[in-house]
Amino acid sequence: MFGFNYLSNVATLKYDPGKCTGCGVCVQVCPHQILARNNGNIIVKNSDACMECGACQKNCRFGAISVRSGVGCATAVINAALGRKSSSCCCVIEGE
Ligand code: SF4
Ligand code: SF4
Repeated sequence: MFGFNYLSNVATLKYDPGKCTGCGVCVQVCPHQILARNNGNIIVKNSDACMECGACQKNCRFGAISVRSGVGCATAVINAALGRKSSSCCCVIEGE
């Protein structure tokens, strides 16, 4: 899945460098390697590849990252696996 892009310019990922301490925890937990350390801050390498899992936000103790988790492909994949039909995305079509 690395390098896979979801829809362009719709990711809800937001980064506030003013709150960031550069601890690097978000970089470690991101399953898609979207984030990277850069001179005490973070750079978002490719927000279109963000699956909005929310791991970065949950693990940032300083509130420097926000993302609307549970709105993207991850939720659709999980719902489909559980047989729910309440969600769909570009890779899981409702009812299939
Ligand atoms: S976890 Fe938060 S404070 Fe730490 S590097 Fe990431 S955004 Fe910055
Ligand atoms: S929401 Fe998930 S995929 Fe997106 S940047 Fe954060 S940890 Fe990475």
